[in-house]
Amino acid sequence: MRALLIVDVQNDFCEGGSLAVAGGAAVASKITDYLKNNAGDYSLIVASRDWHDANSSNEGHFAIDGAEPDFVDSWPPHCVSGSTGADYHPNLDQTFIGVHVQKGMGHASYSAFEGITTDGRTLEQVLSDAQVTALDVVGIATDYCVLASALDARKTGIAVTVLTEMCAGIAVASTDAALAQLQQAGCAVVTSVA
Ligand SMILES: [Zn+2]
Repeated sequence: MRALLIVDVQNDFCEGGSLAVAGGAAVASKITDYLKNNAGDYSLIVASRDWHDANSSNEGHFAIDGAEPDFVDSWPPHCVSGSTGADYHPNLDQTFIGVHVQKGMGHASYSAFEGITTDGRTLEQVLSDAQVTALDVVGIATDYCVLASALDARKTGIAVTVLTEMCAGIAVASTDAALAQLQQAGCAVVTSVA
């Protein structure tokens, strides 16, 4: 069984958001176009969202109270649970998404495998329950949450493919390094499956 994981395609990670990644809104549109043509190729489509606590540094993940974010370990506040910034970007058609994963409640959480579904399962359990043997990964940001999620997927033993045409990274150098790291870990890195 083949599944698709859509990582953190949320307003705050797209243009106009508090931690905007260039190309984020376009990625959301490309994923929707892709799903219109290819959703039938997947037995399961999962989407993750960063879902942080309000009025908290989330254990230092948010730079608050005048602190400057270093954009490595600390970030501007983003994706506060229930906020507009935490919503999926409107360019992403949510009707294709079968399972929703939330992560980062009160702490940093780059990997969707650290999250939990609305019915209380881990992503690893979800994939196992659905007998998924191959996972395609897309989303934002290539150099952080896509990287961490794809590496964790690979650790579960399934085949992992990152489709870079539907990913956006924060910076060129860290994105290139992330793609190299993914390949070293045994993930396939391709532009698209077309
Ligand atoms: Zn976060």
